[in-house]
Amino acid sequence: MRGKLAIQSFAVMPFDENCYVVSDDTGEGVVIDPGGMAPEILAYIREAGIAVKAVLNTHGHCDHIGADDAIRDVTGAPLYIHAEDAPMLTDMKKNLAAFMGFRALARPAERLLSEGDKIAFGQSELEVVHTPGHTTGGVCFVGEGVAFTGDTLFAGSIGRSDFPGGSEADLIGNIKKKLLALPDDTKVYAGHGPSSEIGWERKCNPYL
Ligand SMILES: [Zn+2]
Ligand SMILES: [Zn+2]
Repeated sequence: MRGKLAIQSFAVMPFDENCYVVSDDTGEGVVIDPGGMAPEILAYIREAGIAVKAVLNTHGHCDHIGADDAIRDVTGAPLYIHAEDAPMLTDMKKNLAAFMGFRALARPAERLLSEGDKIAFGQSELEVVHTPGHTTGGVCFVGEGVAFTGDTLFAGSIGRSDFPGGSEADLIGNIKKKLLALPDDTKVYAGHGPSSEIGWERKCNPYL
């Protein structure tokens, strides 16, 4: 039987982007979308005694990747991102930083993800669910009872599809096919804003 996941979130300004540190009873964990706040995230990791096995990006936009390198430098963990979004890490036009008066770059990822890949830490596992529509390489990380949905699915809303590579039809199609298929009580940890549950989104999300 697997232990419950400990999930600590950090709201990173100026876009109120959610970074999540996810760990289990073994003390191993992953950091999802460290857009900034490296000192606070690293302090939590240190105090909680978490051995970080990987830094994960749901996609390559600037507000999700800003502290990738700082977390990697201290923890030694490798960075994972979907292959389609990998070029955004090293290009401030592609990751939109150049258009937002923002500076965000990261070194190339150690591993490129694709649909169905499994990311293991401790006794836990997250599966890569490819959900293009917000970006072409956008993914969700799905574990037992949890889904980290990046800018694909928000509580009561969905991600923008008007950025380069976006497609509203793809976004909504992928959410319906791949996320709404999850059990009702699956907790949704979104890339911005509050958390939700799949059952509530299936019933009440006006975009779906
Ligand atoms: Zn985004
Ligand atoms: Zn975002």
